[in-house]
Parts: sequence; C-alpha cells; structure tokens
Amino acid sequence: MKPGWHLLVTTESPKPTYIYKALKRIGRVGAQDFEDLKAVYDFRCATCGSEEGKPHRFERDKKTVLHRGHMNPESRMTLENIIPQCEMCNAVYSDDFVFDDKGRTIAVASLRPVLKASKRLKEEILRRLSSSPEDHFAD
Ligand SMILES: [Zn+2]
Repeated sequence: MKPGWHLLVTTESPKPTYIYKALKRIGRVGAQDFEDLKAVYDFRCATCGSEEGKPHRFERDKKTVLHRGHMNPESRMTLENIIPQCEMCNAVYSDDFVFDDKGRTIAVASLRPVLKASKRLKEEILRRLSSSPEDHFAD
C-alpha cells in the first residue's frame, strides 16, 4: 500500500494506533482507563521511561511491566491520581513520595526517606521544623 493510504479493516472500532495518537495529543484528561493512561505516556514508565514489554532501562534482563503508581499516596487510587510506573520504580519509591503528572518526585509522603537521611540532613530538618513557620520555606 502507498505511504499515506489507509485500508479500512472494520467499521466496528477505530485502529488502536489512532486512539493512542489521539490520547497522546489530548493528554491525561482523555484517558478512560489504565490502558488509555499508558497510551498517554507512550507505554513508558512515567518515572524512568522504560517501555512496556521491552527490556528494562536499568535491568536489561527484565521485561518492563507497567503498574498503577500513586501520584499522591495520601489520596485514593483513582485514574486522576495514577501514573504508569514500572515494577522497579513502583517498588523503590513505594508510598514514600508524591509525584507530579510527569513522574517526578515533588514531595516526601512518609517518614521513611527522612529516617534514612544523613545525620546532617536530619539535623537540618529538625532545625527548620523547630524554627518559626515562615522559615520552613526558606532555602
Ligand atoms: Zn520506572
């Protein structure tokens, strides 16, 4: 078939690649379920970019499987609060961090990472939290 031509296979449902392209264009708001959401993210982990079904970016001997990852672990696991994450990112970050819709960490959601921090960082956290509230946001 000539490039740019299309073959009508069925009138029952649109070609999946058309749906995925439309979802990528529309973004998260167009997603009706987790499969749609994965399409928005090009079937890649929002955090590390590993592609579903392909060897994992950092562990080449493992295939990437995408899971529902919380953006904010303190909120319900709804489609609005989910990003696709590979098994590794989902396990490593657990419910300890808050993510934005790009898969970047934007806040700490549990004490676990703080307790693992260096003594210097713990002292800095303690110093800031025991100072006046407006100092909490100072650099
Ligand atoms: Zn990942």
